[in-house]
This record gives sequence, structure tokens and C-alpha cells, in this order.
Amino acid sequence: MTDTNTPIRSHSAAAPSNFLRTIVQNDLDEETYRQRRWAGEPGVANSHAAAPLDAQPVRMRFPPEPNGYLHIGHAKSICLNFGLAHDFGGVCHLRFDDTNPEKESLEFERSIVDAVDWLGFDYGTNKNALYYASNYFDAMHACAVHLIEQGLAYVDEQTPEEMRANRGDFSRPGVDSAFRGRSVDENLARFASMRAGELPDGAAVLRAKIDMASPNINLRDPAIYRIRRAHHHRTGDAWCIYPMYTFAHPIEDALENITHSICTLEFEDQRPFYDWLLGHLAKGGLINSPPPRQYEFARLNLTYVVTSKRKLAQLVNENYVAGWDDPRLPTLVGLRRRGYTPEAIKLFCERIGVTKADSWIDYSTLEGALRDTLDPTAARAMAVLDPIKLVITNFAENVFEDCSAPVHPHDELRGKRSFQFGRELWIERDDFQIAPEKGYHRLYVGNKVRLKYGFVVECTGFTLDAQGAVIEVQAIHFPDSKSGSATSGNYKVKGVVGWVGAHDAVSAQVRLYDRLFSEAQPDAGGKDYLAAINPNSLATVQAFVEPSLANAAAGDSFQFERLGYFVADRVDSAAGKLVFNRAVGLKDGWGK
Ligand code: ATP
Ligand code: MG
Repeated sequence: MTDTNTPIRSHSAAAPSNFLRTIVQNDLDEETYRQRRWAGEPGVANSHAAAPLDAQPVRMRFPPEPNGYLHIGHAKSICLNFGLAHDFGGVCHLRFDDTNPEKESLEFERSIVDAVDWLGFDYGTNKNALYYASNYFDAMHACAVHLIEQGLAYVDEQTPEEMRANRGDFSRPGVDSAFRGRSVDENLARFASMRAGELPDGAAVLRAKIDMASPNINLRDPAIYRIRRAHHHRTGDAWCIYPMYTFAHPIEDALENITHSICTLEFEDQRPFYDWLLGHLAKGGLINSPPPRQYEFARLNLTYVVTSKRKLAQLVNENYVAGWDDPRLPTLVGLRRRGYTPEAIKLFCERIGVTKADSWIDYSTLEGALRDTLDPTAARAMAVLDPIKLVITNFAENVFEDCSAPVHPHDELRGKRSFQFGRELWIERDDFQIAPEKGYHRLYVGNKVRLKYGFVVECTGFTLDAQGAVIEVQAIHFPDSKSGSATSGNYKVKGVVGWVGAHDAVSAQVRLYDRLFSEAQPDAGGKDYLAAINPNSLATVQAFVEPSLANAAAGDSFQFERLGYFVADRVDSAAGKLVFNRAVGLKDGWGK
């Protein structure tokens, strides 16, 4: 007997193809990196010749700078790097690109580890395998000295203004610095002075010596070390010179034996320098051969949000939102608090795919992924967000009728929820109209509706307050119409209305989040995104929810029937003090 329903999942076959997958597969087929040796954890002086061959056919890395919380764009990169490495039986390093001490902190570092953990990716062969650019400061320094010795780097002491002016632009070639012709010995001495703290901040930089006339401005002798007396959250005050990102990053990759270094398209113009640098270092035996190679893909641009750490930091620091985990932010902590699950985010990343063409992804794609992952799992519940009293005038006081509903409509095994019908109920304010508009099938005087899982009722009247607002609706119920009873089928009504019992409903605060920006591309073309902030992105209401939610655990998700998906707030919700966030509506209300 064969089970034909069991899918056979081989590593790479299950995942949708993309150009990066093809590249990795080709490198495996051609054994590009087979001869590389693994000299143990990087950062120490390597002797590749003696080391064993690297057991990992594929090494990737996700290299965040710990200068903010991760956002949905980073999730795309995480899913791509960890996903590819995993699918090809390799590993992915979580590496902190902590070469820019002023903006970096331990808080950010921890938040990044948490985010990767939460998404469910395994960083390294054991969970302690965290990599740090700052662990390689000695090795980077040695690489810089090597370049100087080879006549490939020099200490430039032009002022920043001179340096900028002499760099040229797209139409003008650069002009050589007067310091470009320094001897190796003089450069070594000046670089040692930089290192020893004998020069003030900004007085000199070490530059690669490539070509001031290159059409690629990134090759016009890029700076590789600068003087900066800044306290580093890991190396303290050990250094007063720090490597530039474009110099540090390729070396980090090389020391870690990365095979494929995947980054976003804006680094395409840096690739020639990446190859120049690693080519020279490999030739000098400072790194393994062949060096890693860089590949670019299109970053995620998502409508109605901003995904730049600088802009997110501004929204947080200037109190436009309540913190990095504000449920309106596209940070992973914000999305999590909003009710997003790792599954939803991974499904989203799978759906948007990986290409080299820049494009915008509509926010509704993200919401669609959340809906599609919550629908099969979220327990159902009834809730009334904008309550108005419905009095069943022919139902006795202090008598209650037990009602029940499935926890999940497609999974009987999850059992039933129970609640009670009584004389006084809460219904949504907009489930009643004094003068019904065309096509309105819910409550208005003379109309019959079914109160879901309860009885059919006929609306008989309503009460207004002094301002003319409806404060109560009255109806009679039909005792033989109870849902699930043999006679319930005798009633044919067009409208179905949700409700909760006034006596057993539980009070809950519900936070109704809307998009944070009212423009689809709030920061496109350098626009002032603060001007596009939606002033109504949060409405807080006092709602009533069915009794099954009384003990909802923080972080649990529910579908409030007919209303959407809601999550018990991870931070603020507790039994006796329920707080729910609207994660997403039931239908796509965006992009229209
Ligand atoms: P930000 O613009 O938010 O500051 P960043 O690129 O400066 O982002 P890093 O910490 O350097 O932030 O990012 C780590 C990795 O995540 C990088 O490899 C980067 O290419 C990738 N990444 C950042 N933003 C996106 C995005 N929107 N889409 C895809 N990948 C991204
Ligand atoms: Mg960056």
C-alpha cells in the first residue's frame, strides 16, 4: 500500500525558484567553493593551508547593523538568506555589522537576536554562534596594513572639503590628492599614528589606491579607515580608528568563509570594490580562496509604511508612535504585537519572491498572508465593538438560555464555546437603522433577523436619548427558532446579527489600528513622510466580548466573527483587563 498523499520534499525542490537559487545550484554543481578551508572561528590569524576543507557547501549571512529594530524588509532578507542556506544544506550566520559605534547599542543587538529567533531561524550550528564585525577589528587592521605594504592604500590628510571636491562627479574625473604619492613607509607610519590616537578625529583617512578617474565613483580611492573617538558597545575604547563599511563588509564575509554574499541593489556599484579588495587579500594569503561573491536583489518596498531605520527611529523618538513595537509600525516587534505570526511573515516573503527589479508591494499582500494563515487556526468569538443594548421584551428577566458555537467552523475536534442568551444583549450600533437604507437586512422596526447561534427576533421599537441618538432597541424572540433546534429551519431571514449577552459578556479594550500613513508612498522622492501621517491611525473602543475570551492569553489570536482578526495584546492584556488589537479585517479594505 502506498500513500500517494505524502509529498516528497527534497531540499531545494520544494521552494520556488529564483535567480539566486540558480546561482547557488550552479556553484554547487561546479564545486566552486569545494577547496576552501575552514580555519575555525574567524577573527584569529588563519592558516588556511593547514585547515580542513569547509564542511559547509553553502555559507550565507544576514548582516544587520545593530542601530535599530528589524523591519519587514529585513524579514525578506532573513527569509532569503536563512532559507537559501537551509534549502541547500548550508548554514547562515547572524552577524552584527557593528563598525559604526555611535549609533549602535546592546538593546538593538538583543532585539535583532529576538527577531531572528521569533521568525524561527537557526543561526549557526548552535545558538551561541553569533558573529560580530567588531571581533575582526584586528584582522581588518592587518588587511589595511597589508594593502599599504602592497602600495594599495595611503593616508590622505586633505580636508573633508578638499576630498569631496577632488572626488569629481559623474561628468568629471577625480583629482589625485597631494598625499597619494606617499611612500609605503610614510603611509605605515601615518597609519600607525592614526591608530595610536596621535591625530584628531577627521584629520586623516586611509584610502584604497585604485583609480581617481574611474567612471565608478566608488573606485576613486574609497576611504577604508577613519579616525573616530567613539565608545564601541563591544570593544569599548580599544580603537580610535574604525573601518568603513565598504571595507569591513567584504572582509567579514571572507573571514567567515561566506560563499554567497547577498545584499540589496544599492550595493551593486560597490561590487567592483568588493572584488578588488578580496582579490588582493586572497592573493596575499590573508583570506581564503576563492573569495565570496556579492549578489544583489531588489529590496522590499511596501506601501503605506516607511522601512528605513532612521525614519522609524524618528517616529519612535519623536513620539509619533508609542515605541518600536507600536502595532502600526512595520518593525517585526510591531507586527508581532499587531498579531502577525512568523508563519504569516514567511508566507508573505514567499509570495513576493526575489527579483532584481525594484518594485512596490501593496500592503494588502502582507495582510492577505496574515488572513490566510490565521483563518485555519484562529479560534472564533463574538464581540461587539460599538455596543448598543437590545432588549428582548418577551424574554423573562433572570432566565438564560445556553447557546454554543464551534471554536473553529472547520475543525470539530476543537470543540464548542458556550455563552448565554438573555433578555438584555449587546449588538453593534450599525446593526440597527431607524430608516433602513436600500438593501439593509439587519434590524429595523418590523424586520426579522437571526441572532447568530441564538434565536430569530423581530425588531419592535427603539428608544432615543435627548439628543436623538438611539440608546436601546427592542425586539421579540421566537422561542422555537433557536439555532440547532429541529424547528429553526422554519424561519427564513436575510440578516444575521452578532451579539453578546449583557450578563455574561466580558468588557475589553479594543484598539482599532489603521494605516499609519495616508499616502501609499509616504517617503517617495524624498517627500516629508511626517506630513503624510494619518491622524486617525488608532481608535480605542470599549467593547464587549463573549465569555470564552475571559482568559485569553496575551498573544492569542481570534477571529471576531464578521469583524476581523484580533490579538490579545502581548504587553497590556491580562485576564480581568483584556486588551485586543485589530490585526486585520476580514476582507481587503486597502488599495481601493
Ligand atoms: P535601513 O535602510 O532600514 O537602515 P539597512 O540596510 O541600513 O536598512 P542593515 O541593518 O544594514 O539595515 O540591514 C541588514 C540587511 O537587511 C542588509 O543585508 C540589507 O540589505 C537588508 N535589508 C534592509 N532593508 C531591506 C529591505 N527593505 N528589503 C530587503 N532587504 C533589506
Ligand atoms: Mg545597511
